Amino acid sequence: MNCSITTSDNFNTYDSRLLAQQISQNLIESTSLAQSMNAEVTNPSTSSASSEEPQFKKVKLEKSEIDDQLNKNSAHFATSGHFYTTKKLEDRIGGILCCTVCLDLPQASIYQCSNGHLMCAGCFAHLLADARLKDEQATCPNCRCEISKQTCCRNLAVEKTVSELPANCLHCDVMYPRNLLDIHQKEECMERPIKCKFGQIGCNWEGPFHELDSHCAECVHPTKPAKEIMGFLQENNSKCQQEQIALNQLANFLSYEKVCFNDLQFKQYKTDEITPKLYFETNRFNAFFHQWVLKARVNDNQKNPNLTLDRYISFQLILKSKLTNSHSSFQISFCALKGPFGEVPINPRVHTFEFNQAKTETDFIKLSIKATDCNKLLASKTINFRFFMFQP
Ligand SMILES: [Zn+2]
Ligand SMILES: [Zn+2]
Ligand SMILES: [Zn+2]
Ligand SMILES: [Zn+2]
Repeated sequence: MNCSITTSDNFNTYDSRLLAQQISQNLIESTSLAQSMNAEVTNPSTSSASSEEPQFKKVKLEKSEIDDQLNKNSAHFATSGHFYTTKKLEDRIGGILCCTVCLDLPQASIYQCSNGHLMCAGCFAHLLADARLKDEQATCPNCRCEISKQTCCRNLAVEKTVSELPANCLHCDVMYPRNLLDIHQKEECMERPIKCKFGQIGCNWEGPFHELDSHCAECVHPTKPAKEIMGFLQENNSKCQQEQIALNQLANFLSYEKVCFNDLQFKQYKTDEITPKLYFETNRFNAFFHQWVLKARVNDNQKNPNLTLDRYISFQLILKSKLTNSHSSFQISFCALKGPFGEVPINPRVHTFEFNQAKTETDFIKLSIKATDCNKLLASKTINFRFFMFQP
């Protein structure tokens, strides 16, 4: 507890200093920000002056007592005022720098239209792909100016400023600048979940990092005879072999002559039933002279996915083009991967399906991701991924 207070205090000082630096370096030209900075700077001084005045007017105290009182007052104001300022400012900057399409503060690249409206890389790619499919010119959702890879550019100042904005650690809830959060969560946080060192020989213990040493000191697994351990080692071995097979399979498909990929985005929708169910759908996309769409759902439409911890996403590939020849059929293999705008790694799993006039939809296939990553995806409004398709 002590430790976390110190860290967050350090962070506040550190953060406000860095924020101020970043803002003066990167955003000096932005008038709205400059105005909000001015507002933050002038407000506390005016209100502190007025809060001190009544002390002199109303109460007649010894000079030393007054000084004492004033010191206390200004110290109190400094801390609370500082906290107030930091919080307000970062929230407001976050509001200004978010993607104008999905309203998230993006981790990946940020693009801007020629009038300066910001779009995260995922939404930008989505708008361009959308327009291409409709055979229209893509436009900025804010000002309707034309957008393309030529007319839009990245905004490095915004990207860097966003990386300085604080976010809470998933495990200990302490705030860190976004660019340090990843390392903190993976390597430094004392609350990060970790498995027992002897997990490979059968220990299922998992707990916060700060309990690892005391657990390992008592763990019974290292003292078990080799005979008992063999089963676990074999199980691990076969898991590794399966991964190896999947990777080899993907490498094999990537050597096909006909390979294509699309960077897609699942958007959230709700069914219009009495208890609406959450599902996802991409826009239509082109591949191998046909139009396609992907749908996804959570826990295969189980009644209350919010009540279970074991969550998964499954998806379905749907052929949208009409097949004219009733006898023709063709085989497609496909695989979803993280791609440049994705948030979580997806294990490579290639699936194959034979499409014909009667069979235009694959079954729902489980997306091979970790359960914790599944929640991460469900928490964001859109899911970005790269979808590979192969034809023999
Ligand atoms: Zn976006
Ligand atoms: Zn615009
Ligand atoms: Zn943490
Ligand atoms: Zn253990």
